[in-house]
This record gives sequence, structure tokens and C-alpha cells, in this order.
Amino acid sequence: MSPSSPSSPSLTPDGTASPGTPSPGPPSPSPAQTRTPAAPPPFAAKVSRVSRDRLPYSWRKGCPVPVKDLRLITMTYWGFDDRAHVGELVVHEDVADDIVSVFKRLYGWRWPIYRMVLVDVYKGDDFDSIDADNTSAFNCRPATDSTSWSRHAYGKAIDINPRENPYVYANGSYAHKNARKFVKRPLDAPGVINPGDKVVKAFERLGWEWGGYWSGVKDYQHFSKGGG
Ligand SMILES: [Zn+2]
Repeated sequence: MSPSSPSSPSLTPDGTASPGTPSPGPPSPSPAQTRTPAAPPPFAAKVSRVSRDRLPYSWRKGCPVPVKDLRLITMTYWGFDDRAHVGELVVHEDVADDIVSVFKRLYGWRWPIYRMVLVDVYKGDDFDSIDADNTSAFNCRPATDSTSWSRHAYGKAIDINPRENPYVYANGSYAHKNARKFVKRPLDAPGVINPGDKVVKAFERLGWEWGGYWSGVKDYQHFSKGGG
């Protein structure tokens, strides 16, 4: 968003009121005080092929999905600062439409996302990306505490607001100190995903499962197409 503000159309070019206007009484507030903020832009999303050099850390030889099957989604999201932003996500081409459809709804609800950049910004380090409360999808890595591929390695899983929606072990422990306030459910706070809420339902209607419904471990940030 450009912060530029158009000049008020009610003023003449030199900034004075039109001649001949009767005195309106008390001076009117300055245009800066009366200007209504620009309406937020409509949701927009672009799905494009992604080049290998955009994924220097998140993709490597041996990954279960070739780069040609991945897509870069560039789209609007609503921030915790109550403003529109543009973020990037990489997903499998088969689920790109699902993700755009859900995020269009989130934006319409003004449901806030803290950050949305590629995990490569964090050199592919999942811990650092989560610590930065970054919403991300594709990352060619094993599942947490496992040797098999995560659904993220297929581009068919997404983690949303991972600080507000932490991964919580069965014993209640969690890895990120900054998530301390967010481990309980239900919890009424911005960007928090709760059982049965509209965010969970928006994913479920497209065949995505929420990690908050897992037994034992709860992965509140995690949605995956077809589960896992
Ligand atoms: Zn995940």
C-alpha cells in the first residue's frame, strides 16, 4: 500500500476555500483530520510457477515434489496492524486454488495474519520461521520428530500464525517461549484458531484437516490436504 494521500478535492489548487462562500462559523478541521482513510484494497491473488532460485533452502534434490509442480501464490492478507499486506506462499499446484479460496475468505473477515514470507527467508529453518510468527507452506523437511517427509515437503500443508497457534506436545510442553499465552484452547485472541471455528470450517469444506484435532500432540497452526 502506498501511504500517499490525494489532496482534498474541496480545496482550490492554492489551498484556499472557494471565493464567496459565507463564513461557516468555527473553522473547519484541517483536511488531514477529516480525511477518511482509503478503503482497503480488494483481495487479489496471483498464482505463478516458481523458479528454483526462489527456493534455495526449502527445495533440494531428493525432495518428493519437483519444483515444476510447485506454485508461488502472491496475495493480499490482513495484518495485525489492521492494514492490507501482500504475502507469498509456495504450495503444490494441486492445492493452490484451495489456498487462494480460503485466504480470500480470511481477508474478507479481516482475520489477521502476522507475517507471510517464504521459509527461505529463514534459510529453510522451521524453528526460526515459527519464532518469527511466519505463515508458510512448502518446506522440504521431515515431519516433527520423525524421519518421514512432512506434508509440508509435498506443498500440501500450511502453518498459520504459528506463535498464536503453537505445536503443543501431549504433556503440554511447547518449543517456542513466545507462544506461552497461546497454548490453551479455546482462546479468544486475534489470529487464534479454535476448534470448530470459521477458519477450521473454511479448510474442512475443501478436504483439509486441522492439526488441532490430533490426539496427543496438538498442532494448532497446521492444516493439510487429506490429513497428516
Ligand atoms: Zn505444519
